[in-house]
Amino acid sequence: MIPYSRQTIGADDIREVVKTLKSPFLTQGPKVAEFEKAVAKYTGTKYAVTFSNGTTALHAAYAAAGIGAGDEVILPALTFAATSNAALYLGAKPVFADSDPDTGNLDPVAAEKKITSRTKAIVVVDYAGNPADLRVFRALAKKHKLVFIEDGAQSLGSEYRGRSVGSQADMTMFSFHPVKSITTGEGGIIVTNNRRYFEILMMFRTHGITKDPKKIKDKAKAAWHQEMHILGNNYRLTDIQAALGVSQMRKLDSFIEKRRNVAKRYFSLLKGVDQVSLPPATSINSSAWHLFVVRVHARIRDEVYNELRAAGVGVQVHYLPVYHHPYYQSLGYSKGLCPEAEKYSFSAISLPLFPTMTIREQDFVVKTLVETLKKLKTK
Ligand SMILES: *Cc1c(COP(=O)(O)O)cnc(C)c1O
Repeated sequence: MIPYSRQTIGADDIREVVKTLKSPFLTQGPKVAEFEKAVAKYTGTKYAVTFSNGTTALHAAYAAAGIGAGDEVILPALTFAATSNAALYLGAKPVFADSDPDTGNLDPVAAEKKITSRTKAIVVVDYAGNPADLRVFRALAKKHKLVFIEDGAQSLGSEYRGRSVGSQADMTMFSFHPVKSITTGEGGIIVTNNRRYFEILMMFRTHGITKDPKKIKDKAKAAWHQEMHILGNNYRLTDIQAALGVSQMRKLDSFIEKRRNVAKRYFSLLKGVDQVSLPPATSINSSAWHLFVVRVHARIRDEVYNELRAAGVGVQVHYLPVYHHPYYQSLGYSKGLCPEAEKYSFSAISLPLFPTMTIREQDFVVKTLVETLKKLKTK
């Protein structure tokens, strides 16, 4: 099976990990800070805090934003459940706003309509690696005094108006799951320019405990003294993972370039196929190309999925609208809430795309897709 995505691990990555395995620190050592520095530098942000995965990073960011019981968080339905679940962990209510029909990204007009006196934050997702309209959302958040959070799980390495994503929102999350731009096995990070958020994030990932002498409330205590100030958790990334991250960061640009070349080739190979809608061409040079999502008629989408899988092409669907999941249904969300997101979701199919994908593999994907569409058309 040609997977829809896959990690790229080289001998250099393996050497770095082994070096850390032989070092004194497997966790809470120097590699974590080194990795954070590399990501902050790349994204042009002041601070970066790693987490055990992208989901725990989102939980921490929402907590740092002050999201709590009774608050509302506006976010798209066309995303992985984790974006929304992080609001639920804190007792807040996810409020789904509709998506742009072309990009699949959160629609700013639809999002603004959902703002109420309880809204605390607005969360965008860079769908498939293509940045949301960050400038517009930044202005919207400022106007309504909301925290602006970017779920960039799919977009490390993408550009918005000529700059790396990461510094446009109040906090941006990147994931290091093996299918994402770079990997640490499991892993995530929040980048921010806000010192207060940074300090809360640092505490949150390690039980809410601080050892920083400047923050200790009981000044009379001895040097060993540490204090828990907030309810946090153990959400730390290990040094073994961070070592892999440091090594992967060196190759991020080359990974993105390879992903982009695969995407460009899909555009030229699928241009004339009338049953297929391609992703927005405007994203060719800005997207990190986490996914290459094409859309086919909703009536045949599931058959296309089955036929391609049977032929060894590991297509995927990203995503079921979050509120369609039975758990969200049990919370009372009704279907039909976001019609554009649903239309997109029901016709979407992600074709394989990863840095080491060969021309032969890609030709096979396209040939199988085109033949399947032909077969289903005449059926
Ligand atoms: C991958 C992903 C996450 C979760 O990241 P993990 O590292 O797998 O926890 C969250 N949101 C989106 C949009 C993702 O693609």
